[in-house]
Amino acid sequence: MDQIYTTLRKFGKVKLNEPMSKHTTFKLGGPVKYFITIDNTDKLVEVLDFLREENVEYIILGGGSNVLCADKEFDGVVIKIHDQTTIIDDQTVIASAGASTVSVAQASVKAGLTGFEWGIGVPGTIGGAVRGNAGAMGGDMNGNISKVEVYRQGEILELSKEECEFAYRESIFKHNNDVVLRVWLKLEKSSEESKDLMKKAIENISYRNTTQPQGFASSGCIFKNVSIEKWKQENGGELPEIFAGKAVISAGWLVDSSGCKGLQVGQAQVSEKHANFIVNLGGATASEVKSLIEEVKEKVYNEFKITLETEVQEIGF
Ligand SMILES: Cc1cc2nc3c(=O)[nH]c(=O)nc-3n(C[C@H](O)[C@H](O)[C@H](O)COP(=O)(O)OP(=O)(O)OC[C@H]3O[C@@H](n4cnc5c(N)ncnc54)[C@H](O)[C@@H]3O)c2cc1C
Repeated sequence: MDQIYTTLRKFGKVKLNEPMSKHTTFKLGGPVKYFITIDNTDKLVEVLDFLREENVEYIILGGGSNVLCADKEFDGVVIKIHDQTTIIDDQTVIASAGASTVSVAQASVKAGLTGFEWGIGVPGTIGGAVRGNAGAMGGDMNGNISKVEVYRQGEILELSKEECEFAYRESIFKHNNDVVLRVWLKLEKSSEESKDLMKKAIENISYRNTTQPQGFASSGCIFKNVSIEKWKQENGGELPEIFAGKAVISAGWLVDSSGCKGLQVGQAQVSEKHANFIVNLGGATASEVKSLIEEVKEKVYNEFKITLETEVQEIGF
């Protein structure tokens, strides 16, 4: 066995030549040479130190719910962060990056805290949610975070919310190599019973289930919604009437209005139910999804002169 494999085994469970398709909600992605699952944040730091010293390329994976991983082999290490620790201290929730967003939201509600109920409908880990400033139902990570602990080039740093530079589905972590280790959420004490809060959150999920495709592998929304400012800069014309007074133009509406619903490349399809979802009909490849994304972008550009940006993180293309 090689030295990297032998050392990695000290930090967590290692699999060789593991298909990424087993670890992504899109069920896509080729084999990776080393796939390590780490369920302890101290060990995560140790493995990051080791890979840094040895100059080995690595990719961080949370829940795999916002990635499009290429079909080709990756000759490095994928680190699946799986430390699920969540501590509630009065109105502060401290979650390790590998804790699922859903479980952190559920624990908050159970503790009688309000403000993070929206997380009950978001797949993936809280670390992934920080990186993408995930949000739903009017809330987002930016609205809840007080600070974040990160690994940056061999150092462990605490960053304030301002230092995270959150914006709509944006953060500083999309532009640097920081690894989110822990997250502090500051929530409010609720005057409602936790069972009432939970009921509301579950109603929200039921609503999403009526609008989003069910039963197909996907990565959630593919494209970012378009700000009014971007519309003015790129399109320059009147706002579509249905968006008057709104803060953003829905990417799903632009895709649908460009005639893309149901558009297919191989087994990848723009969902008939929600035009901002691409679904894997079964046996799709990442290249098919990638081609479909490009085709949709071109059609939207031809129709509206808007260049859509992807929300999903493309890896290995
Ligand atoms: C059915 C469905 C519905 C969805 N609904 C929503 C929604 O309502 N709102 C929303 O915002 N999103 C939604 N998403 C997208 C996705 O759930 C979120 O973006 C989620 O927060 C991603 O977390 P993850 O752990 O799965 O990230 P991953 O997919 O594992 O990773 C995404 C990116 O973040 C990086 N990353 C992951 N963890 C860390 C870390 N600890 N430190 C640094 N980088 C890291 C990865 O390297 C990768 O580049 C949906 C997805 C699906 C499949």
